Amino acid sequence: MHGGGFLTPSYDAVVIGSGINSLACAALLARAGWGVAVLEREDELGGAIRTAELTEPGYLHDVFSAWHPLWVGGAAHAELGDELAGHGLEYLNTDHPTATAYPDGEAAFLLRTGEANAAELDRHAAGDGQAWTSVLETFFPNADLAFGVFGTELWSKAGLGLGARAYRRLGRRGAVEFVGERLASSRDWLTETFQSERAHGLLAPWVLHTGLGPDAAASGYMTQVIAVAVQEGGMPIPRGGGARLVDALVALIRGHGGLVEAGRDVERVLIEEGGATGVTLADGETVVAERAVIANVTPTQLYGRLLADGAVPAPVTARAQHFRYGRSDMQIHFALSEPPRWEGDERLAQTAIVHLTPGLDGVSRAVNEADRGLLPAEATVVVGQPLTMDPSRAPEGAGLLWIQLQELPWHVKGDAAGELDVGDGTWTDDLKERYADRIQARIARHITNLDSAVRKRVVLSPADLQAANVNLHHGDPYSGSLALDQNFLWRPFPASPGHATSVDRLWHIGASTHPGPGLGAGSGTLVAKQLLEPSLLDRARSLVRR
Ligand SMILES: Cc1cc2nc3c(=O)[nH]c(=O)nc-3n(C[C@H](O)[C@H](O)[C@H](O)COP(=O)(O)OP(=O)(O)OC[C@H]3O[C@@H](n4cnc5c(N)ncnc54)[C@H](O)[C@@H]3O)c2cc1C
Repeated sequence: MHGGGFLTPSYDAVVIGSGINSLACAALLARAGWGVAVLEREDELGGAIRTAELTEPGYLHDVFSAWHPLWVGGAAHAELGDELAGHGLEYLNTDHPTATAYPDGEAAFLLRTGEANAAELDRHAAGDGQAWTSVLETFFPNADLAFGVFGTELWSKAGLGLGARAYRRLGRRGAVEFVGERLASSRDWLTETFQSERAHGLLAPWVLHTGLGPDAAASGYMTQVIAVAVQEGGMPIPRGGGARLVDALVALIRGHGGLVEAGRDVERVLIEEGGATGVTLADGETVVAERAVIANVTPTQLYGRLLADGAVPAPVTARAQHFRYGRSDMQIHFALSEPPRWEGDERLAQTAIVHLTPGLDGVSRAVNEADRGLLPAEATVVVGQPLTMDPSRAPEGAGLLWIQLQELPWHVKGDAAGELDVGDGTWTDDLKERYADRIQARIARHITNLDSAVRKRVVLSPADLQAANVNLHHGDPYSGSLALDQNFLWRPFPASPGHATSVDRLWHIGASTHPGPGLGAGSGTLVAKQLLEPSLLDRARSLVRR
């Protein structure tokens, strides 16, 4: 704390919320000598990162997010990784990042090298291996452009620079073609690229992890980016649970003199003469921010709660009210008395994330059913197995599963399988348990000892997710639909794209903003970089000094 009056604490930057974007942003600023305060309304720090003995003692469950390839591959980790390792953070990885297990007992795997993947895809259809090699050959020369979109403030000189680089390298027609091809759906890209339905079903479920479905615009590009990123980066997780990343970031921020506090609900951003000057908390306390207020919230909260009427132009507030949320999510956590016994390919037992689906059409159908308000008849089940890398998360000889279901409606109109009475359509405890029974039965067809090995099951419905973290509005794990009109250049929404807001010194970060959800900390890093960029005045002064 520094500056300010007797009673009012004052910092260079106040960060609202303690999600990964907040912590990365605060860490980068604190290391550069800024006084920072991170204020979190919940009793736990980390937002969608939390590790807890949710079922039984000795079982460490990642309650929400679990897989850290985006963090490990991101710019914040590149900058902070060594210092975080000094605070005890250690990453574990695998040669078996992901697979899909099909209802007929067959499975397809995505492995860690181009050669291994070519051989695996050829196993399902001769020629698909060469197709994968060709994908890599065209992807890598322009990987800086593909990944650059996620690490660049698109509404800025840097964004223009990225466009100019594409133009210089590819020419006008080439650049237009490059962008056009990236708008294809996952279905179109997969079916044009690979012959085997096993290959389609291996990659299609990954579009769910980008908030899209396989028929959405630009989902083909997201499928490619994820497939290449998983091959190159694997599926790293921290030893001891995802929360070890939060612990290390908090220790780093505090080590540089920053404040990180839980149980501090920010109610209002204070504005004077068109610029943000601090925040007030729900308990009435004021915290002054001399250089920036950085809000890791949804547009719904920023424009509907934190900013007083009239603080921003009325059309912006009106558009923010129409910010759309994506499909809802359910998490199921199993504590098992013994390791899962998989039917079929023995590599399934070593694989970090196994998707259960009939294939591309299965994912498409389940997405469509959820979009129409129905519980899918045959959901895409994400079966996460953190013990494949980190046995310390369960008692010796035991098992633990992290299950994710990303194809659910917030308001349930009915059941596509015609089995469950959905009542008034709200997520009651009874409805979530009966839906989880259906999912457990699906998994038990692949994991033959599941039912006998369950010691405890904990189900988190979309309503539970929203109650745990206000940013997971309607149980949307990605804090806002990623349809094209709310993505990339247009995120969070076209009337206020990017991270600078119409209030001076007020910055908007978090999953609702570009580059969207995930543990890459992209928005927090982009804003920290902009805040740390020397101003024109600083640059002129250093020129004069030379
Ligand atoms: C169930 C689930 C599984 C996921 N799995 C993965 C995964 O494996 N890998 C991956 O890369 N991504 C995953 N994601 C996505 C990823 O976890 C999120 O996109 C990311 O963690 C969001 O970080 P954030 O910085 O936007 O903020 P959040 O993590 O959403 O945190 C925001 C914080 O701000 C606080 N807050 C909000 N308003 C206020 C206020 N007024 N005052 C004070 N505090 C406030 C909230 O309480 C919350 O703690 C998953 C998400 C979910 C929900």
